[in-house]
Amino acid sequence: RAPDYIRAISPYVPGKPVSELAREMGLNEADIVKLASNENPLGMSPKAKAALLAAVEDLARYPDGNGFALKQALAARLGVGLDTLVLGNGSNDVLELVARAFLDENSSGVFAQHAFAVYPLAIQSVGARLIEVPARNFGHDLAAMGDAIAADTRVVFIANPNNPTGTFLPGELIESFLKQVSPDVIVVLDEAYNEYLAPAQRYDAVAWLAKYPNLVITRTFSKIYGLAGLRIGYAVASPAVADLMNRVRAPFNANSLALAAAEAALADDEFLQQSYETNRQGMAQIIAGLDKLGLQHIPSAGNFLTFKVGDGAGVNLRLLKQGVIVRPIAGYGMPEWLRVSIGSEAENARFLAALEQAVRA
Ligand code: PMP
Repeated sequence: RAPDYIRAISPYVPGKPVSELAREMGLNEADIVKLASNENPLGMSPKAKAALLAAVEDLARYPDGNGFALKQALAARLGVGLDTLVLGNGSNDVLELVARAFLDENSSGVFAQHAFAVYPLAIQSVGARLIEVPARNFGHDLAAMGDAIAADTRVVFIANPNNPTGTFLPGELIESFLKQVSPDVIVVLDEAYNEYLAPAQRYDAVAWLAKYPNLVITRTFSKIYGLAGLRIGYAVASPAVADLMNRVRAPFNANSLALAAAEAALADDEFLQQSYETNRQGMAQIIAGLDKLGLQHIPSAGNFLTFKVGDGAGVNLRLLKQGVIVRPIAGYGMPEWLRVSIGSEAENARFLAALEQAVRA
């Protein structure tokens, strides 16, 4: 019999694949616009694709279990040692490694209301106690999160920017939080959308590691690098923390195709810049459209925007009938809101036209 804490878990519900929705809605797959999972509308870097295709030739062999080449590239980029890096099967995987390495049934993990759904899942999966802290203006209330840390708390999760709300915490606030928190508590700073930050918002969390060895920064190749389907992400941490995470990591958790593509993606600054710019323009386009419809939205530092429609389920269904997939976030305690990922100009226009119909209905 599975432990009660496993039975208490409500599973992560991913968005439905386009093919399934097309069938359900009686639509042509090609006519569907999917803006539901914060993916890059440009796809992946052509250099990543070339590396991926070349790596196909060697799939009878196991991947490099230490991910040496990718780690070297990351270490050079970030100015860190190889021993600070932990690779994961998506950054989801590294979030779970933190839970497995630092939590047990006699401990607790702190996270914010409306924060990324994987934090409570990771905490529960090892039998630790959940401490959810009410959000402030839809974002993390760091003062309240600090106050919520209990004697048995071993991990705090912070998403910056947060998904699904897009809220952003300036670097100074995170650093002063680190200053206050006991060094015995791991602070996970989830930077899945870090590369979308505007120049004025950017901060260097990696530089904080020297002062705060309890900090774990997580990043991913799923978002701006456009490699979501390959599942590759990483953590940067102090060597002692990275070592513990690597001990509980499944062997070969990062596959050969992902390792090769991520290394090439990391070197393609031009594609990164183009993706950033596409998002900046698309965000402005969608904000202008929502403003025209008089719909409230939460300022977002990511590649998605959360907006208020009242009847989230109803509007979502009316969008689906027009072939537009967005993300209902009732599961995040926000049933009146929907989250849309920023797409290409044409996709954004399709979404806005469909939304106009859907909210007027
Ligand atoms: N953190 C946040 C805040 C996210 O939104 C996501 C993706 N939805 C992830 C982590 C995990 O992404 P992946 O496992 O694809 O790296």
